[in-house]
Amino acid sequence: MTTIAVVEGDGIGHEVIPIARKVLEALHPEFEFFPVDVGYGMWERTGCPCADKEINALKTADAILFGAITTPPMKDYQSVVLRIRKALDLYANLRPVKAEGFDILIVRENTEGLYSGIEESGPDRATTLRVVTRKGSERIVRSAIRLTQRRSGRLTIGHKANVLKSDVLFRDICLHEARVAGVTFNDKYIDALALDLLQHPALYDVVVTTNIFGDILSDVASYLVGGLGLTPSANIGDRYALFEPVHGSAPDIAGRNIANPIAAIRSAAMLLDYLGDRDGASGVEIAIGTVISQGILTPDLGGSAGTREFGKAVIRSLIKNR
Ligand code: NAD
Repeated sequence: MTTIAVVEGDGIGHEVIPIARKVLEALHPEFEFFPVDVGYGMWERTGCPCADKEINALKTADAILFGAITTPPMKDYQSVVLRIRKALDLYANLRPVKAEGFDILIVRENTEGLYSGIEESGPDRATTLRVVTRKGSERIVRSAIRLTQRRSGRLTIGHKANVLKSDVLFRDICLHEARVAGVTFNDKYIDALALDLLQHPALYDVVVTTNIFGDILSDVASYLVGGLGLTPSANIGDRYALFEPVHGSAPDIAGRNIANPIAAIRSAAMLLDYLGDRDGASGVEIAIGTVISQGILTPDLGGSAGTREFGKAVIRSLIKNR
């Protein structure tokens, strides 16, 4: 029995995740789904956005389908997403960005860097410790190398070693591992890389970088494919895996049935791929392409289809082509 934990989270998570779940149900009626409630809404109701009970429930699943969580900028509010990534040691965040003419996979270190959680905040000074370790760097670059080898491609290492000592360690470990593995590779300063990726996306294949750089780079790269409504992600560790859209809870459009569910549906396709159903994953991608080619588009892509209508059209196409 395959079990899937479903975290809708906050905001548009309540709209896009039920659709991604229906896509999985259409292909795998035998999957067993169970909800896990975490996030800002949970905090408002109970005073705790995510307790050990929820972490333990997530650990029982074969895979986790995750929406997005609102993180209010309050001093005493700990990011739930960061807590889950650390508790489940989901160290590799894979963020594919692909369209006609390019196929980029951003591999972001997901457990340390500037999101170490080691912070101090006073009235006149606040600090966040940027932590880069040998263990963290080795395991993320080794994941990126395995993916590069599988795609017969090239590895680009993104860093800021000209300014940050922590990135000298990251860069040197990545360069060493890439040389030992014998993959084709280069390295670039992250600021120059962000511009070049937009100008020459076809030159890139797998890009490995540290936590915050990967977070920003993948939002920037979403521009290449039409925005945040389209880009999925996988958070993979040695024992657990969580699949979520790159976007957040989008409070500005929540509850209006206008959010694009493609990123969430593609995250479900990555979940299928992780569980070994490659045909199912590619079938989902084909169904999305079919629906787009029929001119059924949500407002972010210039159309007038609602979130639910787009979702229903994808499921219709999936079932028709099975
Ligand atoms: P966001 O990604 O939620 O939204 C940025 C912009 O993109 C907004 O204008 C939004 O309307 C648009 N957008 C996002 N997803 C869309 C979709 N599916 N369809 C159409 N338009 C879409 O980022 P934000 O506004 O900076 O953050 C909102 C909240 O989400 C914050 O509390 C933030 O902390 C949180 N957040 C959570 C995650 C996560 O849970 N993994 C990731 C990023 C942001």
